[in-house]
Amino acid sequence: MAEAATTETAGTLDRHTIERCLNDRARRLHFPPAVEDAYEAYRREYRARVMSSTIVPTLLIYNLFLLVDYVLLPQTFALALFGHLMVVTPLLLGVGWIVRRRPGLWMRECLSASLPLAMAAQLLVIFYLNRDSANAEHYHYAVTGILTYANVNQKPTFRFALVSTSILIAGYCAVLIAAQTAFPTLLVGLTLITGVGYVTLVANYRMELDARYAFLRRMHDRFEYELSQHEATHDPLTGLANRHEFDRRSARLYSDRRLANTSLGVLMLDVDNFKAYNDHFGHPAGDACLKRIASAISAQLRNDDDVAIRYGGEEFLVVLVNAAATDIKAIAERLRRTVDEFLIPHVDEYGHVTLSIGAAAGRIIECSMPELVARADTALYEAKHRGRNQVCLASRPGTHDS
Ligand code: GH3
Ligand code: MG
Ligand code: MG
Repeated sequence: MAEAATTETAGTLDRHTIERCLNDRARRLHFPPAVEDAYEAYRREYRARVMSSTIVPTLLIYNLFLLVDYVLLPQTFALALFGHLMVVTPLLLGVGWIVRRRPGLWMRECLSASLPLAMAAQLLVIFYLNRDSANAEHYHYAVTGILTYANVNQKPTFRFALVSTSILIAGYCAVLIAAQTAFPTLLVGLTLITGVGYVTLVANYRMELDARYAFLRRMHDRFEYELSQHEATHDPLTGLANRHEFDRRSARLYSDRRLANTSLGVLMLDVDNFKAYNDHFGHPAGDACLKRIASAISAQLRNDDDVAIRYGGEEFLVVLVNAAATDIKAIAERLRRTVDEFLIPHVDEYGHVTLSIGAAAGRIIECSMPELVARADTALYEAKHRGRNQVCLASRPGTHDS
């Protein structure tokens, strides 16, 4: 589930913001708003799971404490039983139920804080009512256990943990003072609760820092992975798919039996007299020209099934999925015309930059991809032979139409 949340959030973030956060020397509990939102979306799942999974053990341990009430303070046992079973237990179950519905940050953290506060309140009420009993002298130390559960087990957000810990310690001190607790017990109680409060808040703070930076690293790894995937499958100059990606897509098309009757169109495009262009205008200008042609080719694709590949230096290959032979010719013609109309100046002899295109069509069940590519290549050769800046369609293996 956390994996799904990471996938969902990665799209809304940019790599540089994540890197800036990771490289920030001061480790912080706050990220820029976009990262903070993504972290919260990711965290929501995790917190829901942590809180849900601690409900049953918490119920068992907390209600086991009734044994202490029963043995040491039997005079208020009925009230303790009521507090445990009619107030705190339903609250725990209710919070568990709500948290599973993924409430927002404030709602979730307030509900989370309400649990230890309710437990501590119940415990301190019983203590206060038994303040004159010698058996109650150490009863209130159990609040430190509640504090540990609140700040460590539940993994609340630090700023909420800070507030709820302060309330809990203040309430504890107030009750001990109001109960006129003997000085040695008061001293031990106050130092113990302050010490446990401090230690558990430090642990909570570190856990949140670690969780936040683990999230950043996870996002970063994801970006790295996506980048390396893109680099492995795309041509760096034009951004078109490379031959490796073409092989992968072809294999996928040909391995799916449901696509056996699908018709494919393969266009082989080659820039005319490009060596002369390069020699005259220089390699950087040649690169810019190739980029412009590549983006024109991509823009003419009809949908995600069609793919444009940089096949070689100034050669491109387009695979059109589910295209009739007439469509293929029309698409090839449109591509040729688009580049022709750019009127990119060439050396005087050639006027402007043009494309020659060889096209071949066939159903998956009838022709393999290498056959289609070979036929398109032969048709391209024919287009060159006939004077360039034109489309040749290979109508059947071995014969060509223009
Ligand atoms: P034709 O019309 O017969 O295709 O002639 P051509 O000159 O285009 O064909 P040729 O194969 O002789 O030359 C292709 C040229 O494409 C050679 C090289 O200068 C250029 N080229 C190949 N890859 C790149 C590249 O990545 N960048 C640049 N700028 N030029 C490239
Ligand atoms: Mg060429
Ligand atoms: Mg060539």
